[in-house]
Amino acid sequence: EDAKSQANYLQIYKQSLEEKYLRKLEILNELKNALNGEDTDLAMFYQPKYHIQRTRVEKMEALIRWHHKKLGFISPELFIPLAEQAGLINQLTNWVIRRVTFDISHWHGQATDLQVAVNLSVHDVVNPKLQRVILTALKEFKVAQNKLAFEITESDLMDDPQTAIEQLKLLRSAGFELAIDDFGTGYSSLAYLKSMPVSELKVDKSFVLNLATQKEDQTIVKSIFSLARNFNLQLVAEGVEDLATLELLAQWGCDWIQGYYISKPMPADAVSGWMNEYSKQNWTKKCEESGL
Ligand code: C2E
Ligand code: MG
Ligand code: MG
Ligand code: MG
Repeated sequence: EDAKSQANYLQIYKQSLEEKYLRKLEILNELKNALNGEDTDLAMFYQPKYHIQRTRVEKMEALIRWHHKKLGFISPELFIPLAEQAGLINQLTNWVIRRVTFDISHWHGQATDLQVAVNLSVHDVVNPKLQRVILTALKEFKVAQNKLAFEITESDLMDDPQTAIEQLKLLRSAGFELAIDDFGTGYSSLAYLKSMPVSELKVDKSFVLNLATQKEDQTIVKSIFSLARNFNLQLVAEGVEDLATLELLAQWGCDWIQGYYISKPMPADAVSGWMNEYSKQNWTKKCEESGL
């Protein structure tokens, strides 16, 4: 009886592995089509970065979205790692950079002053063609260099810190602002942090989502802040979902916040309208007044 149920179990296990594998292959195949086709179902969304002291939105982060006709919504947390494994990420990043630059060139009103951060994978950072791709897109769509910035996760940087630092220095000396993303999850060596040519440090949202109630998260965030300040880095907190969290972060000297509390990521054609209406709202005060 035992042997039989074990065999059954193995059979089901094997089936589910095969299904997962096939699904991955299908997604990769569809991603290739999406990157090559004219009528792509990939899109870029934009999430505001709000400056707490200046009480306004001055930057956005570009986040890729994929609503597949048959497969439905596919998260970047799923397809970005697949693209990396399959050697598709450089092509995907090229698409992202061109689309973001195109979108920037079509914004108007308050939105024309925005700086937009693009997420890079470690495979992009070490790609010798990256600079060329960026500069070509900026030129083609007549977008100023300081309108683009880049984010790279701490764990990606720690893959091969020496090489990453060399490549990031090239981007930095070309004038692009750089941020370390998802900080606190990637086991940075402090020695490397010292030599990273970055100006922003983004605290991972896992420490921010429950900040108002979790004492441990408060301790972690406060120590990340004092570390960052010693390295002269701008502080960004992602995943701010409520006023209580915003107030704590403000009190601890955080510079920028991002999160559903200000806005979810929005489509490119919503950005100008959103900026004209909301970019100068004082989110701290507004909510104090409404008693939230
Ligand atoms: P990330 O760069 O750390 O982006 C932050 C993620 O947190 C985004 O998820 C964003 O939608 C989500 N988020 C923002 N505010 C809140 C909030 O208040 N609460 C909660 N629960 N979540 C919030 P998303 O868009 O699913 O992206 C996930 C990750 O996929 C990104 O993490 C980034 O690493 C990667 N990614 C997204 N777009 C791109 C891209 O164009 N290129 C590359 N290479 N990676 C990308
Ligand atoms: Mg990011
Ligand atoms: Mg992040
Ligand atoms: Mg992340």
